[in-house]
Amino acid sequence: MSKIRTHILGYPRIGEQRELKKATELYWKGEIPRAALEAIGKDLRKRNWQKQAAAGIDLVPCNDFSFYDQILDAACLFGNVPPRFKWDGGSAGLDTRFQMARGARDTKGDGSCCGGSCGSAGFASEMTKWFDTNYHYIVPEFRTDTSFKLSDTKIINEFHEAKALGLNAKPVLIGPVSYLTLGKVQDPDNPDFDRFELLDRLLPVYEDILSRLAAEGAEWIQLDEPAFALDLNPRQKECFVEAYGRLAKAAGSAKLLVATYFGELRDNLALFLSLPAAALHYDAVRGAAEVDALLAAFPTDKILSLGVVDGRNIWKNDFDASLAILEKAKARVGDERLWISASSSLLHSPVTLASEKKLDAEIKDWLAFADEKLAEIVALSHLLAGEGDGAGLEANRASQQRRRDSDRIHNPTVKGRLLGVTEADGRRASAFPVRQKAQSEKLGLPLFPTTTIGSFPQTAEVRAARAKWKKGALSDQDYETFLKEETRKCVAWQDEIGIDMPVHGEFERNDMVEYFGEQLDGFTFSQFGWVQSYGSRCVKPPILFGDITRPHPMTVEWITYAQSLTKQPMKGMLTGPVTILNWSFVRDDQPRSVSCKQLALAIRDEVLDLERAGVRVIQIDEAALREGLPLRKSEWQEYLGWAVESFRITANGVKDDTQIHTHMCYSEFNDIIGAIADMDADVITIETSRSNMELLEAFVEFKYPNEIGPGVYDIHSPRIPSVEQMENLLQKASNVIPEGNLWVNPDCGLKTRGWEEVRPALINMVEAARKLRAVAAATV
Ligand code: GLN
Ligand code: ZN
Repeated sequence: MSKIRTHILGYPRIGEQRELKKATELYWKGEIPRAALEAIGKDLRKRNWQKQAAAGIDLVPCNDFSFYDQILDAACLFGNVPPRFKWDGGSAGLDTRFQMARGARDTKGDGSCCGGSCGSAGFASEMTKWFDTNYHYIVPEFRTDTSFKLSDTKIINEFHEAKALGLNAKPVLIGPVSYLTLGKVQDPDNPDFDRFELLDRLLPVYEDILSRLAAEGAEWIQLDEPAFALDLNPRQKECFVEAYGRLAKAAGSAKLLVATYFGELRDNLALFLSLPAAALHYDAVRGAAEVDALLAAFPTDKILSLGVVDGRNIWKNDFDASLAILEKAKARVGDERLWISASSSLLHSPVTLASEKKLDAEIKDWLAFADEKLAEIVALSHLLAGEGDGAGLEANRASQQRRRDSDRIHNPTVKGRLLGVTEADGRRASAFPVRQKAQSEKLGLPLFPTTTIGSFPQTAEVRAARAKWKKGALSDQDYETFLKEETRKCVAWQDEIGIDMPVHGEFERNDMVEYFGEQLDGFTFSQFGWVQSYGSRCVKPPILFGDITRPHPMTVEWITYAQSLTKQPMKGMLTGPVTILNWSFVRDDQPRSVSCKQLALAIRDEVLDLERAGVRVIQIDEAALREGLPLRKSEWQEYLGWAVESFRITANGVKDDTQIHTHMCYSEFNDIIGAIADMDADVITIETSRSNMELLEAFVEFKYPNEIGPGVYDIHSPRIPSVEQMENLLQKASNVIPEGNLWVNPDCGLKTRGWEEVRPALINMVEAARKLRAVAAATV
């Protein structure tokens, strides 16, 4: 019996030490020439292929590499460059890509273009989340007059590069229906244009690419169609039929692999299986429950690629569980027609465990990053073929067993406490009107109270001090003294300009999730476990591996210190359970909802400790609540149910006169506003200034019962809003939000801005609130 064929859909491109990020940023700063950046890219690709080949992967992908984003690359490949970039229609190379991603340079040199947010000629394309991952792609833009033409050679070049290394690589490209699905119509003359009408214009370019790749000798071409994991409308379904009918022919001697991932297929299953492709890839991790249905209906003339190794989490594969699935598949399709893979591209995994020198050995044994996943895929193929002495399987079993039994993971007290949680734990003692009165008496705030979202500028000085302290070059004591001084200055300044509800500034925090993860038991941190978030930005998500406990208060000292500096009510600052969950790698041995509720209990304890210490106002940020929404609408209710419950457990144990705030970094509320109202926070601050308050429309139909602070200062832009601009925004907001419920605050935290911007902006903000108060006083 032969070993079953192995492949992956994509490999992380950032490099083991984030080489790509570093080089790209140097290039942007003009410190290295383009050729140097390109050479680093080429070297990374080579190393990535060599690693895969050395691991024993039979079919390696190419064109999975990108200097920024693969969807942006596809847009350039198709010549789908929005007219504002004044592209000459020649080859859409690296600089065109960077302009689309980051905004065209300020060619006038007068500061009239701020690289994206100012609305001037070359503003950047929108970026949005890649399905339910924390990767972000550049959104393709479509207009009624959009046309496509082959405009780039990257995919061909990378195929040649691999060939020169002796590899017949599998070029990877987003499929046409997903490409259109992921894009947006940006056409002022015809905003309701149906983007799927572009399919007929797009397909010839795909046909061209496929036939060129075939002519170059590509044996396999992978088209990713993750749209299959979404709710598809009839139009999209028709597009699949039309597109693949044509593409299968155009591929000629090359064979097509169509890949779906990130979820079950359900009502799309039959359509997927009917595609005229030589091979179909299926995500057997997210879709584990559907594998039997898939196998039962799987056509007898196609290859089935099963992704049994999780491409987007960090746990070691359970070989027995994977083999059970693979055996069934083998029995159905035979070993000639079965391929083994990871569920999705490994883009969403950190690169390698080999660099991790500080990870606790017990926990490290439970993990697999991208390189370890390559080895797992190959090992599974050998095991399925009955090759080897079974030592690998035994070792894997032993490791799974150690993880299952570890008392690092299981804490009976935590599990018991969760079982004892009742509905009453998530309910405030009184309804909002009663609380509002009690809080207003206690806090004595004016109409239109001013506040901020939490962080103040993380200056180079703050970052340098933290880095020095982490290296051991600054003592704990000196670091604390430094942070206290920063906090003191920040609070004093807020008092000076008349902010009604100050914050401490979050100088001691590096990241709003990491800060809490580091202090909670049940989390661990890698040293190099970076994952691309967008462009050159990478994140290193905490690893939630066990039952969560809070060994000691996490923020009480900082907040009480800050409160001691001012008479104004200091707002304590916490990150909520849903956001911590959504921005971490989380355990796969219990439902996410259970991990979330454990986090909720730990943060609830912090909330109650803050209250006990005399803190009158506590903000619990849920920046990432919306991000956790399932891909299928039918699952939203379930998610929102436990997410909201978790927030309520965290927040609602306080007394009536303690004011709970929450903050969310978006304002697409229309579809989830009921759930947000159910959280029952006394005050919610949200992002709205960028949309000129239009996003407040949700509040016209739905009367949000509690207080709201729609952001009036766009912190994503270096521009300083004037008093009049902010007054206008507030005026607009007061059309939908009752005067007594309206707060005045920026869109989000100020940590990425400089003091020279923040100072005048907040002074103007306070002035805008004063003017509004004067108007209100004059009209009574
Ligand atoms: N309190 C955090 C801050 O101000 C909130 C950040 C966020 O919403 N992403 O930075
Ligand atoms: Zn925010």
